[in-house]
Amino acid sequence: MPRTVRQIAIVSMPSIGRDTARRRCTDILIMADWYARFDEKFTVDPGTGCWLWTAFTNPKGYSRFLLHGKSELAHRVSYERHIGLIPEGLELDHLCRVPGCVNPDHLEAVTHKENVRRGNSVKVKRAKTHCPKGHLYDAENTYIDEKGHRSCIICRRTRSREWYSRVSNCSS
Ligand SMILES: [Zn+2]
Ligand SMILES: [Zn+2]
Repeated sequence: MPRTVRQIAIVSMPSIGRDTARRRCTDILIMADWYARFDEKFTVDPGTGCWLWTAFTNPKGYSRFLLHGKSELAHRVSYERHIGLIPEGLELDHLCRVPGCVNPDHLEAVTHKENVRRGNSVKVKRAKTHCPKGHLYDAENTYIDEKGHRSCIICRRTRSREWYSRVSNCSS
């Protein structure tokens, strides 16, 4: 059996069992709780768009976040929350070269080899032209919120529809 990457930020939804609905609601409330906790722990640099972690960082400058009782790397948590599971065998590269940045838009999942290669090359800031799902960041598809976050409008719509249907199932 190949070892699978541990899923940290995504709450897996139970699909069977008598109390499925109740458990699903518990999961959603837990998610809403840590989402709020996470969002309090960074500030947005208006110049670079980096989400700078203001809570605990390790000596190398990487941010830590306590999730489900474990101290996790906050940029990995952010990636899984906003984008999805980090593919097996891949590492997250900070395109902005700011280790304490947790902006998922500044993170790219790459192989270890590629990560090392990039680390050794000239540290140039690179900007993404497409969202992680491949939608173009043009004027029409780019949403910038009050904190200065840039995000993909197509993906935001999909996520809010999913979130709304989950929450409305809980309140009935
Ligand atoms: Zn950044
Ligand atoms: Zn998108």
